[in-house]
Amino acid sequence: MRILFLMVVISIIIILLLNSFETRVDCPAKNPFPGFVITFDDAFIDEWFNSVDFFNDNNITPTFFISGFSYLDSTKKNKIKRLSDLGFEIGVHSLNHLDYFDYIKEHSVDNFYTDEIYPEIVSMEKYGINPRYFSFPYGFNDSELDTLSLKKFSLLRDITEYQRHFYTRLFTDLDRNDEIFFTPCTGRVIKALGVDKNFNLKINDIKECFVRAKKNNEIIVFYAHKPVNHAKNDYEIEYKYMSELFTLAKEMGIRACKLSDLDSISLKYSR
Ligand SMILES: [Zn+2]
Repeated sequence: MRILFLMVVISIIIILLLNSFETRVDCPAKNPFPGFVITFDDAFIDEWFNSVDFFNDNNITPTFFISGFSYLDSTKKNKIKRLSDLGFEIGVHSLNHLDYFDYIKEHSVDNFYTDEIYPEIVSMEKYGINPRYFSFPYGFNDSELDTLSLKKFSLLRDITEYQRHFYTRLFTDLDRNDEIFFTPCTGRVIKALGVDKNFNLKINDIKECFVRAKKNNEIIVFYAHKPVNHAKNDYEIEYKYMSELFTLAKEMGIRACKLSDLDSISLKYSR
């Protein structure tokens, strides 16, 4: 009983903290247009490569954040190089996809950079790929890792806290979760919204976010993992869902952007 009481109290504190994120200072500058970006994480190289026509047909240029690039065979590395040559954007997602907070219990933040991030940059550069963006495994980071990573990368893709707790949505509407709406004042660490099937976001939820994005010229960054026809496991996204999302964006005048568009906006306004 006492444990239950404690859990309720802790939950209320967390909810209050999350709600406090909602109020942010208005940004004096505005993005030139409302938009969205889609990014993919991990190492679903074949699935991404097989989706090239799908993305091209929809005029979408995702960023692929790759984990374990150094371990891939040359066939997969060639596919990534080809994606890069086709204009898709390639980012780093670390060598071993470790839990950063576990890692720094026994190692330094510098070690994380030199052992988990830097070798991936070197391997990619050897392959003629110049990664400019990084996404944190599990979205785990702190200001020290941000600062270190920003010495090399232009933008860092984080994930929103909003989807970490199942109960957040009971208390805050998705479209009031300021951290997923990029403005020129956001800076270089960008919180993305998960759109794999297990996040259970209906197209109508996305529509509500697009309504706000359109009103304020904000840009939403989505993240997903493995494109599939029928999702059977967590961290999969169905083509049908992506098609609906892309069509909705087009109908509402929400521009399909690249991460480099956000980089340009951020460069112009906040650096
Ligand atoms: Zn990942």
